[in-house]
Amino acid sequence: MKSLWCDREAAEYKTDLGLRVYTSRLLGRDPSLVLHGGGNTSVKIREKNIIGEEEEILYVKGSGWDLETIAEAGFAPVRMLHLLKLAKLQVLSDSQMVNELKTQMTNASAPAPSVETILHASLPYKFVDHTHADAVISVTNTANGWERIQEIYGDDVVIIPYVMPGFDLARVCAEKFAAEKSDRTIGMVLMNHGIFSFGETAQESYTRMIALVDRAEDYLKKHDAWEILPPNSLIRESDARSEIAKLRAEVAEVAGFPVVLSSHMDGKNLAFAQREDVKIVSQQGCATPDHVIRTKRLPLVGRDVKAYAEFYRAYFAEEVSKLAQPVTILDPSPRVILDHKLGLVTVGKSAKDAKIVADIYEHTMEIIQRSQLLGGYQALPASDIFAVEYWELEQAKLKKGGSSPAFTGEIALVTGAASGIGQACVESLLKRGAAVVGIDINPAIDKLYDRPDFVGVTCDVSNEGAIAHALDQAVIAFGGLDILILNAGIFPSGCRIENLDTATWQKVMNINLDANLVLMREAYPLLKLAPKGGRVVAIGSKNVPAPGPAAAAYSASKAALTQLMRVAALEWSKDRIRINTLHPNAVFDTGIWTEEVLAARAQHYGLTIEEYKTNNLLRVEITSHHVAELAAEMCGTLFACTTAAQVPIDGGNDRVI
Ligand code: ZN
Repeated sequence: MKSLWCDREAAEYKTDLGLRVYTSRLLGRDPSLVLHGGGNTSVKIREKNIIGEEEEILYVKGSGWDLETIAEAGFAPVRMLHLLKLAKLQVLSDSQMVNELKTQMTNASAPAPSVETILHASLPYKFVDHTHADAVISVTNTANGWERIQEIYGDDVVIIPYVMPGFDLARVCAEKFAAEKSDRTIGMVLMNHGIFSFGETAQESYTRMIALVDRAEDYLKKHDAWEILPPNSLIRESDARSEIAKLRAEVAEVAGFPVVLSSHMDGKNLAFAQREDVKIVSQQGCATPDHVIRTKRLPLVGRDVKAYAEFYRAYFAEEVSKLAQPVTILDPSPRVILDHKLGLVTVGKSAKDAKIVADIYEHTMEIIQRSQLLGGYQALPASDIFAVEYWELEQAKLKKGGSSPAFTGEIALVTGAASGIGQACVESLLKRGAAVVGIDINPAIDKLYDRPDFVGVTCDVSNEGAIAHALDQAVIAFGGLDILILNAGIFPSGCRIENLDTATWQKVMNINLDANLVLMREAYPLLKLAPKGGRVVAIGSKNVPAPGPAAAAYSASKAALTQLMRVAALEWSKDRIRINTLHPNAVFDTGIWTEEVLAARAQHYGLTIEEYKTNNLLRVEITSHHVAELAAEMCGTLFACTTAAQVPIDGGNDRVI
């Protein structure tokens, strides 16, 4: 492990808090030290308050901030005097502690201080750094972990037995640290949890952290417990699309809400899932309490989701009956699935959550394998995991609740998504919490958005193989398909029937009609599994009820598409799939309508551009956004009892009425 400290970079930070930001980010840059909000750091600073009194303030990482991207505003300022008094209490519930921390902040709008705040306060050093370093946990989580840590560090660290994070851990650390520290002490190792370092400067505390973790890495290397060799042959699921979708439907059923599944079939994940002892090594428990809430309990090995849920229901029922307080029972679905042909599959209420679980479990797999090489992985016992899952602070979060967006946990696919109505549909669906796959013939789709809940796939919808590939991508990324928006289409230049050549006619039919048949047919097995019922919205056209001259191919293709939707509604209603069609007209903020084309068309009708754009009964301008919002709403509860509808979105058209 190398120090990333750079004098030139550090010189840009002039204050202690600035340097605290700098080295926190250095820790955050290395995922083998901290992951997704894990770890925390602090600095103690003397400053004058508003009435001129000097106070010592602990600036400690606030909740909701990642070390990698933390800024000064991410540190909560808490009065040290009160924290040191709290540290001396014999008993303090964690809810009371959270209250005390909040009421002792000197900035009411700062984030809530870390639950490890009192621990930071009680360590008598200006800078304190805390990580859940993989290498250190790989050593602590073994049968002889304590002896091995002693062997690695001697008097350089104080060792703390496992105690759940919160006030009790702070108290135990304060007592043991005071009793056992020596002149040599530069850190503290928390068994089955992580490591602290400290110093008088940001650089000293940071470089000590790196040096301490480096010693654990060296130890693993010396004991041939560093390199993880994959097995020679790996098998992969040949029908991953339908197998993953089935798995998602089962997980959603036991969870009681739609979920996103993120599948990772690459070599190292498959290798772990195909270990002969996977059922033993993966069932020991989480690597550090910080992971429990994200990855939850133990992974499911295999695909028997129901048996897993039953086991946990029974386990929870027994453990919960021992608790004094009534609690909210957690859903019994797995968050991590290890399957010998699917590799690592992670579950989340959103794509972001599923990705975080995957990142955490990829590190867990490394920790487990290195601990195994060292003599055997031994994690937190089930009762300690239960204590974190049913921690009063986690229960308080559940009670607070908060509503999630309408399509949370659902997956949508939009065709023609790189621009116009398609892109607007992507945004309307993302806004409602769906994970979205956008497909388009324009390769710009690949990089349309850089966010975990969007995947762009370059795809020519007239190519059946390309459609199959796009659906594979959708299922591997998110686990299935709930919503399908059929938007891709072409509008050839005006041409009367006597001049219409067969090739143009066929091309329009091919893209506006045939491609949608293929997509519907291939998506059907996925839509059928949608936890809340599948939904399809086709973007039709005003030309269906009111065709125009010189648009025979376009009008006929959209009319046939509408008829296809009506038949699908008849056939698929038994599978709870709702099918509706929108008929927009005169949507001008799309790629085909340049300023020149608009001006020419307006002039043709003797209208100004403004008059031409609002040439409808309501005199409104219809945008892609209007169409997209209606398409998204048609997939929501407002239209829960509607199928086979055709809804105009044209500002009112007397030919349609
Ligand atoms: Zn921690």
